[in-house]
Amino acid sequence: MVSGLLHEPLAGTLVTSYFSQRTLRRAISCAGIGLHSGRKVTLSLRPAAAGSGIRFRRSDLGGVEVPAQVNHVGAINYATGLMSGAVQVDTVEHLLAALVSLGIDNVTVELSSPEVPIMDGSAAPFVYLIQEAGIRTLEAPRRYMKVLRPISLTRGDKRIAIYPSDHFKVTYSIAFDHPLLRHQSRTIRLTSDAFVDEIAPARTFTFLKEVEMLRQQGLALGGSLENAIVISDTGVLNNGLRFDDEFVRHKILDVIGDMALVGHPMIGHLVAHRGGHALHTAFAARVLEETDAWMLVEGRADAGHAIPASLPTSVHPVRAN
Ligand SMILES: [Zn+2]
Repeated sequence: MVSGLLHEPLAGTLVTSYFSQRTLRRAISCAGIGLHSGRKVTLSLRPAAAGSGIRFRRSDLGGVEVPAQVNHVGAINYATGLMSGAVQVDTVEHLLAALVSLGIDNVTVELSSPEVPIMDGSAAPFVYLIQEAGIRTLEAPRRYMKVLRPISLTRGDKRIAIYPSDHFKVTYSIAFDHPLLRHQSRTIRLTSDAFVDEIAPARTFTFLKEVEMLRQQGLALGGSLENAIVISDTGVLNNGLRFDDEFVRHKILDVIGDMALVGHPMIGHLVAHRGGHALHTAFAARVLEETDAWMLVEGRADAGHAIPASLPTSVHPVRAN
């Protein structure tokens, strides 16, 4: 099974010549509220050993852990939740997007209640936390998932696919029955810098007419204009947008976070139309099932970029298909 490969050291590899795994230099914390639960929560990010991946830990439940892996996907209610036994963690996607985009392979995410804080509705506060903590390189090679042939998933008018490419790129398009976002589409080649500048600040959004319905379902209880763009029939209730196409940029942020659940940075072109967390996470599971459509590679490096602008010419196949 694929996951077993994550922890297998390769005999005879010269580790320093590869893109290395990374963690944080020190622990760092922040406090906030859950978007859906409205509950206060303290979030701490702690350094973790090579090969341990991204793991959530519930400090209020004696430190029970939930790995950020697609086989732990739980409830999808306008956000992505993870489960391990009866223990859940909710709204993980924005934090995961920031971690993987800044090249943090291993970290323990400690929460004092079930839901990751929403902060300002974007990933920018998590980027700031990671940058404040600093990044430490570990003596273990990072393994990328290189896509060899297309994989796709369609549900009604929603589609998502990934195609072979030398870079990690995302194209997203959205279409809502609303004059502000009838159609938005954007393609971005993801590097750490591109994520920080172009994607991380984009906030989550909701329609004013849906807010009451969400609250009746016990959702969006912590939502406000401080942490979400609220769209009325004629415009946005907030004091302006951060980008003209902030909505589609936020969808790119969401899909990066959801696809982090495959457990490896991907080398391929991800293309999505009208997706949401249910489609994204189902696709992450599909990708892991189609083991002949990709291989794990270690990129040779002579510089320590978090995400290579292109995969170095010499790649070492970890696993033949
Ligand atoms: Zn989101």
